[in-house]
Amino acid sequence: MAITDDVLVIGGGLAGATAALAAAERGVQVRLLTYKQSTLRHASGLIDVLGYAPSGKGPLADPFDTLETLPEGHPYERVGSDAVREALLFFDAIVGDAYAGEHTDANALVPTSSGAIKPTARYPAGVAPGLASDPRETLLVGFETLPEFDAPLAAAHLEETGAPFEARGVTLSFPGIRRDDAKVTRYAHLLDRDETVDVGRGETSARAALAAIVRDQLEGESRVGFPPILGDDNHATVRRDLEERLGVDVFEVPSGPPSLPGMRLEDRLYDALDDTGVRVTTGVPVVDYEGADNGRSGASSTKRIEHVLVDRKGRDVPYRADEYVLATGGLVGKGVRSERERVFEPIFDCHVEASPDRYDWFDGDAFGDHPFARFGVTVDRELRPLDTEGDLEFANLRAAGAVLSGYDFAAEKSGSGVSLATGFVAGDRAGSEVRG
Ligand SMILES: Cc1cc2nc3c(=O)[nH]c(=O)nc-3n(C[C@H](O)[C@H](O)[C@H](O)COP(=O)(O)OP(=O)(O)OC[C@H]3O[C@@H](n4cnc5c(N)ncnc54)[C@H](O)[C@@H]3O)c2cc1C
Repeated sequence: MAITDDVLVIGGGLAGATAALAAAERGVQVRLLTYKQSTLRHASGLIDVLGYAPSGKGPLADPFDTLETLPEGHPYERVGSDAVREALLFFDAIVGDAYAGEHTDANALVPTSSGAIKPTARYPAGVAPGLASDPRETLLVGFETLPEFDAPLAAAHLEETGAPFEARGVTLSFPGIRRDDAKVTRYAHLLDRDETVDVGRGETSARAALAAIVRDQLEGESRVGFPPILGDDNHATVRRDLEERLGVDVFEVPSGPPSLPGMRLEDRLYDALDDTGVRVTTGVPVVDYEGADNGRSGASSTKRIEHVLVDRKGRDVPYRADEYVLATGGLVGKGVRSERERVFEPIFDCHVEASPDRYDWFDGDAFGDHPFARFGVTVDRELRPLDTEGDLEFANLRAAGAVLSGYDFAAEKSGSGVSLATGFVAGDRAGSEVRG
């Protein structure tokens, strides 16, 4: 007997989690099946809607001016700009005060760990005091054991980029951590639990020790930026505590991977899934499906997915639903795969448009416009995958997030925005289809 739900979402990244929550809002029974870690754990935690136009123009002040003019087939063109706005409101309700921004019609400018300035629509609350539009002088603090955030270099780069404030960077030794292979979660948990650390002259708490060495470096700056390691479960408390001890605003500079802000967002989303009654099964891959069709081909075909097969310790277990959402990610998440002469979607074998000559997949210029960046399944305006003829692959399948074709998230700075908007629409439509 197959395990049965109303809506089955495959993939537990931002797109899948949003789809599952949106479907559950419709009052139907939802299951989310996911395999490995999603890109949430590597991404910065920022929700970028559209920082640059596909032509490269930008940074964009108002993403919606350009969003209305995107070419046919871009995921935002498919769902429409009102759905993008609705999805942002949906996100705000899920994350509550953990996020700030509400930059829907005007991108916020956020400094990143490389000293670049990134246009984004939503950022974690702990990033807010560091915005590049704020003219206050800034001290950036890096740590010897975290070489990926080079604070002096980031500060110099920010000034070169034309940030409207003076920035200075220092590199310090993190109290209580001497190993340069310590995970970012080790820093966060030390601060979360305010563990006792030995500072040479005796023992003190981790937060007091950190505040003491940073205080010594302040030269009148009224805000201090750290790499994103300021606590995990108690992030807000850690940040507030450091602010009180230092007497200045404290913020995190988004970076990654691995990314604590991304992990904190993942925790929020999975708490929401739990609260909403979505059944979540992790660590299992969907490997195949069984379908049925009405014997017709082309536009009048109504091929449906009957159930999918999940590999549970080498045994194929059927999971059945009325509606399915494919949110398995792109080439990174393995929702889209490539072999020497083909690019394909591995579960349902949905059509993925790609030249049979792999040399056409790349641009000669490393920083050029690479076709592979846009590989994915092509969908109609209901986000249902289309075959080579432009007909529906299945009547009861929708796709969302990085598995979709038609956009280059890295160039456009649109990754999370597309996953959020298309996840929201795919889940909402799947849920309402079941409700009838
Ligand atoms: C390093 C990095 C940094 C980024 N930084 C930013 C940023 O700063 N801002 C921004 O907006 N975007 C950023 N992005 C892009 C953004 O993270 C992604 O576009 C977006 O999160 C993709 O979400 P998704 O849910 O579509 O896919 P994914 O996050 O890839 O999730 C797909 C999930 O599906 C699961 N899955 C795959 N196949 C199966 C299967 N057969 N059965 C079950 N489960 C399966 C995977 O294991 C995974 O958990 C970044 C991406 C990367 C890689």
